[in-house]
This record gives sequence, C-alpha cells and structure tokens, in this order.
Amino acid sequence: MLGNVPARRLDHLVDRCRIASVAHHSSKTLPFMARSVIFTQTPRCARCSFVPRWCICAGFQAIDCPLQIEVLMHRREIHRPTSTGRLINRVMLHSRLHPFATETPPNRDAIVAPDSTPWILHPRGESMPSTTPPANLQVILLDGSWREAARMTQTVSTWGRLVRLPMHTPGRYWLRKQQGEEGYSTAEALLVLLGALGLKAAEAQLRLQFELHVYAGLRSRGAINLAEDFLATSPLPAAMPALLEQLHQRRPEPRET
Ligand SMILES: [Zn+2]
Repeated sequence: MLGNVPARRLDHLVDRCRIASVAHHSSKTLPFMARSVIFTQTPRCARCSFVPRWCICAGFQAIDCPLQIEVLMHRREIHRPTSTGRLINRVMLHSRLHPFATETPPNRDAIVAPDSTPWILHPRGESMPSTTPPANLQVILLDGSWREAARMTQTVSTWGRLVRLPMHTPGRYWLRKQQGEEGYSTAEALLVLLGALGLKAAEAQLRLQFELHVYAGLRSRGAINLAEDFLATSPLPAAMPALLEQLHQRRPEPRET
C-alpha cells in the first residue's frame, strides 16, 4: 500500500502511464523496430503494425497539438503491436519516440529541452498543478509493462516533475486485460492530460485513434465478442461509421463466417 492506494493498483497505473518519444514517424529511423515488422512470421502493416486484414491506416488522422510529447519506449515494447506509445508517435505531430534500454538509457540532455518544463507522468507523482502550465511544457511518457516502467522511472525520476493525473474512469485498453494489466495505457494517460490542459480537440481526435487501435487489435486476434462489447461503448460507430463498414466488409477471413 502507498497512502490509501493499493500497491497493485499503483502498478497498474504505472503501466498505463508509460512514456516515450522520437522524431515523428520515427519508425523509419529505428532499425530494430523495422526488423520487428519485417521478420515476424505474420506480415504486418509497416505503419500501424496490424495485420493487413485489420490495417487501420485508412482512419489515420495526424493531430496537431502544441504539447511536446516524449515517449520513452522500453525495448521490449517496441516489438508489441499493441503498443500505444507507437500509436502516439504516429498520430501526434509534436512527438518523439525514444527507445529505452536499461543497459544504455537515454541521456536527459538529448530529450529535455534546456528551456522546457518537463513533466513525467507517474502515478506516484504530485497532483497536477492547478495553474495553467507553461507554454514550454514537455511531457514525458513511459511506455512498457509496469515492471519495465518501474525500471525506466529509476532513470528519469530526476529529469523533471513527477505528475500524477486524475484518472477516475475505467481504462479502455482492453488489449492487455488477459495479461492482468488493466490500467490505463500510455495513450489514455495522454488523453487525460490533454483534457486537463483544455486541449479538447486533440483529446477527441486521439480518443478516436486510440479506440480504433484497440478495436482493430481485438479483431485481429479473433476476439469478436469482446470487440463487439468494446464497440458498443465506443465513440467509433458515431464518428467513423464508413470506416468501420469498410473494415468489416473487405477481405473477410474464413473464421469470421
Ligand atoms: Zn496500416
């Protein structure tokens, strides 16, 4: 226990508060990331990482938000198609993705700008300041399992201000439910921050990209019933009806019939 929050719950929150960043569309600059796409047995879209049948690139929307986002992605996360750190880096124009290896952690000076105010989203941080954040706010997200995020925290805890976000609603990251990681995903942590900062348009756009990511992930693994349950409480049907219809009609798989 820490305070009045069970440690187990905190672990889940850490997992959901994963962070990272690299130049936008940085997958083109990460050789090992490219290998994960090329050498896996299942062919995957080089951009969204889903199997071609459930490629969601037709629904891609770049999000122009003034917030500078740095995603620290644990090396193991790079090979996980379900990663929302990569999703963030793909859609947020002002984001960078930084691979993180415990043996060779990134250097603070290479990530944190000299004139910026760095916030590291973390469940054990201080409450989010109520005052309007400075214009040069730089948010650092830790992307990895809760164990991996904990290791990353040891490195980055002195980089800036550890900030805890008000997370009151159940997470929607259904892709890792069965792994016991039911906390917020990295993308959801960013969603909460965008909302708290009043960046509502970016929040709404990222919400749709995140929901599309989760839905495609559920469908690509054949979890049709779970995907239907997810869609029933998602803004996707109202926001992207044509895209969903397209996804459902094209190249049907035998197991869906
Ligand atoms: Zn794709």
